[in-house]
Amino acid sequence: MRTCIGCRNTFEKKDVLRVTFFEDKISLDKSGRANGRGAYLCKNKKCVDTAFKKKAFHRAFKKNFSNDEINNLKQEIEVFLETDLNSER
Ligand SMILES: [Zn+2]
Repeated sequence: MRTCIGCRNTFEKKDVLRVTFFEDKISLDKSGRANGRGAYLCKNKKCVDTAFKKKAFHRAFKKNFSNDEINNLKQEIEVFLETDLNSER
């Protein structure tokens, strides 16, 4: 089980997104097998928003990310979520 850093609920692996921090770079791990420390977010847009609003990634990785880094990541996640939801339909 994985704990979502937005809502703190636990989810099965298939229901979360994995974000990794590796070599000073934060990114969405689309394969689920990337190197680095991982943090998890459930596949819920509201929760993603909440996580970004309360700077959950800063806390999860104990690092102050720049706005650019955070905005890029957020966009990457939103695009990924949309494609993921569409493919399930
Ligand atoms: Zn969540």
